[in-house]
Amino acid sequence: MKAQDYINLEDELGAHNYKPLDVVLQRGEGIWVWDVAGKKYMDCLSAYSAVNQGHCHPKIMGTMIEQSQILTLTSRAFRNDQLGLLYKELCDLTHSHKVLPMNSGAEAVETVIKAVRKWGYQVKGVPQNQAEIIVCENNFHGRTITIVGFSTDPPSRENFGPFTPGFKIIPYGDSDALEAAITPNTVAFMAEPIQGEAGVIIPPDGYLRKTRSICSQNNVVMVLDEIQTGLGRTGKLLAEEHEGIEADLTLIGKALSGGFYPISAVLSNKEVMDVLRPGEHGSTFGGNPLACAIARTALRVLVEEEMIENAAQMGDYFLANLSKIKAPHIKAMRGRGLMLAVELTDDAGGARKFCEQLMARGLLCKETHENTIRFAPPLVINRAEIDWALERIEAVLMQRN
Ligand SMILES: *Cc1c(COP(=O)(O)O)cnc(C)c1O
Repeated sequence: MKAQDYINLEDELGAHNYKPLDVVLQRGEGIWVWDVAGKKYMDCLSAYSAVNQGHCHPKIMGTMIEQSQILTLTSRAFRNDQLGLLYKELCDLTHSHKVLPMNSGAEAVETVIKAVRKWGYQVKGVPQNQAEIIVCENNFHGRTITIVGFSTDPPSRENFGPFTPGFKIIPYGDSDALEAAITPNTVAFMAEPIQGEAGVIIPPDGYLRKTRSICSQNNVVMVLDEIQTGLGRTGKLLAEEHEGIEADLTLIGKALSGGFYPISAVLSNKEVMDVLRPGEHGSTFGGNPLACAIARTALRVLVEEEMIENAAQMGDYFLANLSKIKAPHIKAMRGRGLMLAVELTDDAGGARKFCEQLMARGLLCKETHENTIRFAPPLVINRAEIDWALERIEAVLMQRN
C-alpha cells in the first residue's frame, strides 16, 4: 500500500476530528521516525510530549514485553506487585504524599475536580453544590464535557453544551486576577505552568510563586496541570521547580509511559487525596501492573539517562540559535527547556504551510492555533541534531511567499 491509500482509508472510514499532516508513519527510534516509503524525519512534536524518552526506547520496550508476559490487568479489586512500587518511586521523585493512577490526561483532570470539590465540602466547609474552581483563559486540560466547558477555545466547546457549572475563568499570568476571583466557596485554582496548546505561553516570572502564596493564604488547593510540561520537558522534572514551589495537586500523564501506553496520575498532598473513599472513584485499567511497570521504567530512564539535564542544556542552545534567525513574519520566539515556539505575524499566511514545508525537508512539527509553530523534540536530542533542525527551520522561515 502507498501513503495515499492509507490516507484514503483514514479519511473515508475515520471521524474527522483531526487534521493531520499527510505523512504516514511506520517506524520510530529516538528522535527519528520513518514513513511508509522509508523517508526519515526528525520528530519535533514527540506526540505532544508523550515521547520525551524518544521513540521505542529499548529499556521501556523491554519492560513492556516482559511485564506483558507476566501479568497485565487485575483491576483494583485486587492488589498487584507493581502499583505500590510505582507510588513509592513517584513520591520519592516528586515529594508527593499520595498518588492516584488513571489512564488519560483528561481522566486525571476529572479526578482532580472530584477530589477538590469533595475536599471543599468536607474539609473547607463549603456549602453543598457551591464549590468554585478557578481556571485560566486559553487553558488546555483535555476533551471531556466538563473540561471543554471551561475552555475558552471556540472549536473546543461550541455545540457541546450544556456544561458542568462551578468554574470561573480568569486571565492567565495575572495573579491579581486570582486574588480578586477567590470567594469563600473557592476550592481550587488550576493552571498549566506553561500553556502548551495555547502556543507555549510562559507566564511572568514569579507567577507560580505568587499564586502559590495566594492559594495558601485563602485555603484554596493549588492544582498544576503538568501533563505536558512535566517529566523533563522544560528542563526540570516538573516545571513548578523553576519557581521553587510545590503545588498541592500535580497532574502528570503523556511521558509517564514514554509513549508506550496511556498512563496518567494525580500526585497529591495527603490532605486532599484522603477525602476519596472506596467506591467514590476508580478506573478498570487505572493502576494496572503493565502500566505501572512501564511507568517505573519510563521514569527511571528519564533520570538515569540524564534526559532532564539534557533538555535544559539543549533547550537553551535551541532557543539561543533560533533567536538568531532574522526572518520576515516572525512575531516572537520563546521557550523553556525543549518546549519552544515561533509565533508568526498575522500576514504570514498561517503556520500550517510552514509545517508542511518543514515536513518536505524532513522535520515534523505541528502548528498550534493559527500562527504558532511549536518545537518539542524528544529529550534525547543532541547539539548536531539541533543544528540540523535549525538549518531547515531557517531555510523555511526565510522563504518569502
Ligand atoms: C494533553 C494534555 C491534557 C489531556 O491529556 P489526554 O491524555 O489527551 O487526555 C491535559 N492537559 C494538558 C496540559 C495537556 O497537554
